[in-house]
Amino acid sequence: MSLPPLKRVLLKLSGEVLMGNQPYGIDTDFVAQMAEELKAARDTDLELCLVIGGGNIFRGMAGAAKGMDRAQADYMGMLATIMNALAMQSALEKIGVETRVQSAIQMDEVCEPVIRRRAERHLQKGRVVIFAAGVGAPYFTTDSGAALRAAEMKCDALFKGTSVDGVYDDDPKKNAAAKRYENVDYDTVLAANLKVMDASAVALCRDNAIPIVVFSIRERGNLASVLAGEGTQTIVQKLNA
Ligand code: UDP
Repeated sequence: MSLPPLKRVLLKLSGEVLMGNQPYGIDTDFVAQMAEELKAARDTDLELCLVIGGGNIFRGMAGAAKGMDRAQADYMGMLATIMNALAMQSALEKIGVETRVQSAIQMDEVCEPVIRRRAERHLQKGRVVIFAAGVGAPYFTTDSGAALRAAEMKCDALFKGTSVDGVYDDDPKKNAAAKRYENVDYDTVLAANLKVMDASAVALCRDNAIPIVVFSIRERGNLASVLAGEGTQTIVQKLNA
């Protein structure tokens, strides 16, 4: 099974991607390199929505584990995603890519609120739209935010760039015999609890027939390869329909 023709995609990057080789925070050189790859994708006339996590700065679960109120900690995590969105916006605009950040937590001085019809217009004008603050509610993650925005913006696919080159039947870092899937059904991912995205995000993609492409973003040039349908990846979609 392969992907439908791609006109508009949503790219989800975990916050860890922005750390580069640092243990924490934002590696501006790595963000600049990422921005070049996003520009190359946008220059192929692809309409590009972006969702960036916040795990390189703060994760609500980690705060809760240390005794913080979970909802409070999650709001801090959402603020971290806004910082990452602004860092990426800055890197993209430095190389001439027009962008808009839309945040699910209103922050009028720094970015727009999420307004679907306005985001639509930005995309039509060739701007990259970066959706920040996930779904804007605690107890969710930016994976769910990515699935939600991919659905409401009618994206042809959700590309999830991580540090692993696809979906495996076991943890490839712990089990050398783990096998990578080329294609896998949403229901298999959910039933076997395969590490792709949160269950709520996978279910939202399944219910809206949005293919999820899991690939490694760490190798330079890989984004262009997977967008062209090449390279190493796993596609999560409905099989045997
Ligand atoms: N978060 C949240 N609601 C959302 C999106 C994010 O509460 O809709 C919080 C949550 O605490 C999460 C943190 O923001 O841990 C950072 O997001 P995420 O863990 O998804 O980032 P990633 O793992 O992709 O870097």
